[in-house]
Parts: sequence; structure tokens; C-alpha cells
Amino acid sequence: MALRTADEYRKGLRDGRKVFILGNQVDDVTEDPFIKVGVETGVFDFKMGHDPEMRDIAVTKDRETGEEISTYFDIPDNPEAVAKRFNLVGTACTYGEGAIPFVKDVGTDLINALTATTALMGNKTYQDRVDAYRKHCARNDLSMAGAVTDTKGDRSKSPCEQDSPDYYLRVVDETEDEIIVSGTKAHITASAYCDEIIVIPTRNLSEDEKEYAIAFAIPMNTPGIVQICRPNFRYEDKYHFPTPAPRRGHVEALVVFDNVRVPKERVFMNGETQFAQALAYAFTAFHRFTAVSYKIPIIERMTGLGMLIADANGIETASHVREIFNNMIKYVETTKALAQAAISKPENFLNSGYYVADRLTANIAKLFFASNFHEFVRDIQDLCGGLLVTQPTYQDWQNKDLRPYLEKSLGGGNGYNAEERLKLMSYAHHMVASDFHGWHEVCTIHAEGSFAAQKMMMGLEAPMEMYKDKAREMIGSTKK
Ligand SMILES: Cc1cc2nc3c(=O)[nH]c(=O)nc-3n(C[C@H](O)[C@H](O)[C@H](O)COP(=O)(O)OP(=O)(O)OC[C@H]3O[C@@H](n4cnc5c(N)ncnc54)[C@H](O)[C@@H]3O)c2cc1C
Repeated sequence: MALRTADEYRKGLRDGRKVFILGNQVDDVTEDPFIKVGVETGVFDFKMGHDPEMRDIAVTKDRETGEEISTYFDIPDNPEAVAKRFNLVGTACTYGEGAIPFVKDVGTDLINALTATTALMGNKTYQDRVDAYRKHCARNDLSMAGAVTDTKGDRSKSPCEQDSPDYYLRVVDETEDEIIVSGTKAHITASAYCDEIIVIPTRNLSEDEKEYAIAFAIPMNTPGIVQICRPNFRYEDKYHFPTPAPRRGHVEALVVFDNVRVPKERVFMNGETQFAQALAYAFTAFHRFTAVSYKIPIIERMTGLGMLIADANGIETASHVREIFNNMIKYVETTKALAQAAISKPENFLNSGYYVADRLTANIAKLFFASNFHEFVRDIQDLCGGLLVTQPTYQDWQNKDLRPYLEKSLGGGNGYNAEERLKLMSYAHHMVASDFHGWHEVCTIHAEGSFAAQKMMMGLEAPMEMYKDKAREMIGSTKK
């Protein structure tokens, strides 16, 4: 099958999946006023494959059949694959008009992690199943959500110590051909508008927690899957000034598995507790770098927005504003430099033959980006002034009786008239002062792992003995 078109992707989502939003079941996710934001963001992935200017980046060849497939399914069995992926994800985010399409990123990070981990397990059956699954998705040009995070209940307790067994997804029954799973995965991006869902454990497990050591992939319309989506913002936006590119973004869901039957050929781990953490770890090795890759175009754009706002307010030469510019430049360029540093040292992940960006630097890049984002936003908010949150809406601007008041009161510096200044402020409102922005701040901290997750990885990956040896040399110590 050839690469799908945007319409074929949309059509594929009308498959009887069980999705709820604001308490109501959704008949067609492509038409829901909130979920449509995500669908139309995902659509860019399919547009890219058919855009002659993007094909070099977005399209590759299936190594066996020679047919065209999405570059997301490229097998990263060479060091160059890391830079190629960085380019793909960053370009997709820019092409997606400011949001990453995200309907293949997490899924292919998971397929790569499953390939590497099943190889480490030495389990040929699982390896063959993952390989068949990769081919199935690539050759049918499918989109895949990744479900890693369980609801987790009391964080200080392990899965089998929890009050409810459903705080972690688990196997509740098994037949010769199927496993039956129950439990809930949380915060799953794009699951309402992906074709498939890939599930892995989120943490280490003890030997007596075999039923939680489960990895599999199934279609999103499999009976027993219930998705409860959280609205972010509406596709049709009446309040903000229209922009050439509509606003983009994603929708997360709480994904409930209520006695869901999974065919065994789609099961990639079933009871191997000793590999649960390795799989979660492998996923982060691939996915944390994806996170950094797609954030860069977003923060570049936000930096430019802050600078234009300063122009429109006539403050761009003030010394404190120059200092803010320097802070923003330092933030965006350091994040980029860290990403480049991670690319420059590709690692053969645990000798699996699959290459990832340097794990220590990739984790530092994500931590640096996430822990400085709020200050970066604070600076943009500072440049905007109070109009950021008190500005009249586009509906006021369209009212012929009100517009003259706005025209004569809300112009700015550097030749910005009221309309141009309000357009900027309106976009800034969306980016740094709206409900969407609240989502973005939290997404920055938690999505792709909270601060502690990156710090834990840094502790594991940093060459601490090398640091200590340097100090030992200085004092002539051999004490280990
Ligand atoms: C916008 C968004 C999109 C996301 N998309 C996806 C997705 O597509 N797929 C997916 O699988 N996940 C997704 N996530 C989930 C994300 O990976 C998690 O939010 C993140 O790993 C944190 O987990 P949590 O939300 O359960 O918070 P918690 O883990 O509960 O973190 C809250 C605080 O508790 C601390 N904490 C947690 N456990 C312990 C402990 N045992 N001891 C001490 N302190 C602890 C943390 O360090 C943190 O400070 C998404 C999240 C967001 C916000």
C-alpha cells in the first residue's frame, strides 16, 4: 500500500472507536470541535509524504519490498540515523505550523525500543512479532499512540501493593491465542486520532508482578478500549485574530482497557518482569531525544514572537529589554547546542545494533529545556505588558462600532498600527497566556518524563568514576 493521503488518514479514524469528551461519546473524532485540532495537526504527517519539497525527508524505501514508506519507520541500525531522525522531527514540527504531528513519533520510538529490548531478551518469537508489527504499520502507513504511563495510584507503592489493581495495566486472563488485559493508561497523546496503540510497562517490576510485565499493540477500535479525552482548545477559534496557519496542538486521553482481548501475535512481553525496566528505559533512550528535537522550532518561534512584541511596544532598544533578548537567545541556542551535542555522539544502544543520541546529553538537553521554560515564558509575558490578558477579542475588532475606538487607542511603536499590534498580542495570548499555554507549561515538565526521570538517567549515564579518577590523580589516591 502506498503512503496514505490526509483524507485516507481521516477516513481511517471513523472506525467505531469509543471516545468520550466532556462526558459525551464522540461519533466522529475528525469532526469533534476539540479533537479536530489534534486530527488536523496529525494530518500534516500525511501531507508531508505527498509534498514534493518534503519527500526527501519524509519518505524512504522499505528495505525488503522497495515500496515507499514514511521515514519514521526507518530502521536506526546506523549512527547517521540519529541526525536523520532529528531532522525529520524538527522539520515535521515546522511543517506542522508550529506543532509536531506526533502520530508516528512516539509509536516508532516504541517500536525501536521493543526491537532493541526483545533482542536483548534473546526471545526470537517476540523479535519476529515486533518485526512483523513494524512492517504492518510501515506498509499500511499507520499512526500509533504510545501508552507507557499508568495511573499509578500511590507512587510510593509497587503495582501489587496498590488499593486498586487497575492502577497499573495487567493481564487478567489468558487463552491459547489471546491475553485479556485490564487497567488504565494516563495522558496518552493523540490516541483518539491514531490507528493503533502500543502499550509497555512504565516501571521496574518484582518477580511476583508478572501480570504487569506486559507489552502489546492493538487497533484503537478494539472492543473494551474506552478513551476519555481532555479538551484543550477549539478548532474554530472566534476570539483570537485569524493567522495564516490555524492553531495546532494535541489532545490527551485517559485510556481505559476493560477486559480487552489481545491476539498473541501482537504480544511482545508477557511476564518477563526482569525486562520491564529495560523496556521502559529503552523507550526513554529513543523518546527523550524526540522531545528535544520537536521543542526547538517551537522555542525559536516564541523567541521571535517576544522580539516582535518588543518592537510593537517600542521598547526594543531599552537595556533591560536587551537583557531579556539575551536570556531568550541563551535559552534557545543552548537547547539547540545540547541537541547537536547529543547527535554528535550516537550510541549503539546496549549493543543492540540500534543507535540513539548520546543518552547523557539528551537527558541534559531535555532537563535544561524543561527547567528553564517557565522563566523564558515569564520574559515574553514581561515584554507584552498587561494587554496580553486584557486585549479585546477578534469579535470586538469585527464590530464596526468598536473598531474605531481600538484603532485610535491600541497602536504601538515602530509603525505598528492597532490591528498589527493586536494580531501579535492575540497570538502571544494563545502562546503564553491561554489555557493552551497552561497545558504547554505542564507538558514541558511532565511529557517525556518529569525532572526526576532525567536526573535519574544522568546519574546512571554520567562518567562519575572518571570524574573521581581525575581528583584521585591530583591527591595520589587509589581508594575506590
Ligand atoms: C501533555 C502530556 C502528554 C503526555 N503524553 C504521554 C503519552 O503520549 N504517553 C505516555 O505514556 N505518557 C504521556 N505523558 C505522561 C508523562 O510521561 C508523565 O506525566 C510523566 O512521566 C510523569 O508521570 P505522572 O504524570 O504520573 O506524574 P508523577 O510521576 O506522579 O509525578 C509527580 C511528582 O511525583 C514525583 N514522584 C513520582 N513517583 C515518585 C516516587 N516513587 N517517589 C518520589 N517521588 C515521586 C515526581 O518526580 C514528580 O515530582 C504525557 C504527559 C503530559 C503532561
